[in-house]
Amino acid sequence: MNDQRSDSGLPSILKKLGAMTAIRDTFMVEQSLLRTLGPLLGILETSFYRVDDNANILRAVHHSRKVVEERGSKRIVDNIEEVTNVQHVSTELNNLFESVRLLDKSCSRKIGFELLTCYPIYGDHQLLGYFVFQRDRETTPVEDAIIHGVLEVFTNYFALLDSSQRDQLTGLFNRYSLESNLDRLWSMLSANKQSSDQEPDLAINDPGSYWLCILDVDHFKKINDSYGHMIGDEVLIMVTRLLQSALRKSDLLYRFGGEEFVAIIAANDLESATEVFERCRTRIEEFDFPQLGHVTISGGFSSADPLVLPQEIMHRADSALYAAKDAGRNRIFHYGSLVEQGILQEIETGSIDLF
Ligand code: GH3
Ligand code: MG
Ligand code: MG
Repeated sequence: MNDQRSDSGLPSILKKLGAMTAIRDTFMVEQSLLRTLGPLLGILETSFYRVDDNANILRAVHHSRKVVEERGSKRIVDNIEEVTNVQHVSTELNNLFESVRLLDKSCSRKIGFELLTCYPIYGDHQLLGYFVFQRDRETTPVEDAIIHGVLEVFTNYFALLDSSQRDQLTGLFNRYSLESNLDRLWSMLSANKQSSDQEPDLAINDPGSYWLCILDVDHFKKINDSYGHMIGDEVLIMVTRLLQSALRKSDLLYRFGGEEFVAIIAANDLESATEVFERCRTRIEEFDFPQLGHVTISGGFSSADPLVLPQEIMHRADSALYAAKDAGRNRIFHYGSLVEQGILQEIETGSIDLF
């Protein structure tokens, strides 16, 4: 098992990307939550704190409204501030968060003449974050009902956003999510390459250290034809769990199509990358699938060179996969090695101009 392997160092970009996946798309919803609740409650400043699985604060969104007087007429100016790297929250706020978690309901603390109030926000029975505001009086039962109603709509929206990115059968991120993430990942890798070119000592990651692999179940049509679609579905779920167990938490795994998966990993060199994808392959080969026994997968991978368009990298991985199928299946091929051996012709690159 790979459980001992460290998540530190190399995979930091993937980790960041994994965390970012949800951020961009949910940020608009978080903003609109604050823009809705503030005016409904007549409060000028509201905040939303997003937490991770261990209730650590991930980021904060602050909404403030100011009444501005211009030439005799008053107008309200809206301001949204997003803090993506919350280093410190006040002791009062920290204590309040703790009480909310322990009591599992909204709580308030007196701060001078005012009350600091916090509501927990749940999604899928898990704490997602906190809604926080401060003002000079307690929340009335009507206001309490309004807050609960709005928070419920918010969590439904949140779940909906998440489900549009996920594959229903396996729970993995889907093709739509992969396609939008590839561009994000590549711009992060390119930015990293730029900084490492300019200041090599400050480079956190070697830009050549990310790898993309397309994995495809062998003869899956036969499994469906012989055992039925439902067993086929079960195989896909098991293959997913086995792949997840062979990868690190920070690696990215997508269901790309029917029985095709895409894994993006960080590894120092070709040997380490090969080892990871080989582990994926053997984990499936060695597993005893109920009723049908053994199932195999083939894979093709390429280094995720930030100077080459992500679509090209997908194309390279796909041609290596094709070669693996052609060579008899149940094997993982590396695009670069196939080119070196003259088995594949180098695919013309659509390159990215960094400057
Ligand atoms: P190869 O070894 O060359 O990959 O052969 P294959 O049979 O795996 O490949 P092919 O592309 O011919 O067949 C893939 C099959 O996957 C066809 C399709 O019916 C099936 N499939 C696609 N999505 C699903 C799904 O969600 N559930 C099930 N049970 N089958 C699916
Ligand atoms: Mg297949
Ligand atoms: Mg296929």
